[in-house]
Amino acid sequence: MSDCLFCKMVAKEIQPDIVYEDEQILAFRDIHPKAPTHILVIPKQHVATLNDLHDKQLAGHLLQSVAQIADAEGIAETGYRTVINCNSAGGQEVYHLHLHLLGGRQMSWPAG
Ligand code: C5P
Repeated sequence: MSDCLFCKMVAKEIQPDIVYEDEQILAFRDIHPKAPTHILVIPKQHVATLNDLHDKQLAGHLLQSVAQIADAEGIAETGYRTVINCNSAGGQEVYHLHLHLLGGRQMSWPAG
């Protein structure tokens, strides 16, 4: 998707602050962090929303990577939150699937 912001990050046309990368996924620091640790984990292939994620292996890899990155960031034991905003009512702004990893502060519930 040539007009997708996160695809441009995957292609390194835009350089995010990358914390992890492998053949399938890219993880980088959110440009407007909502917590001391705020990382976005994305599939390298363009998947617009969670509704479009049909690859179970990729889904599992995304989730396991969040946990591994949380561990590497030192927030696994104290705790963190993972969020996927889906479509407009879910608050999604960038239409390339991303898992938010938020930590380093106490989270409240329910989410806004
Ligand atoms: O879930 P949602 O689509 O609202 O989240 C998009 C996220 O992408 C926001 O947290 C925003 O700060 C982040 N972003 C970014 N770098 C950009 C543009 C957006 O990290 N260049």
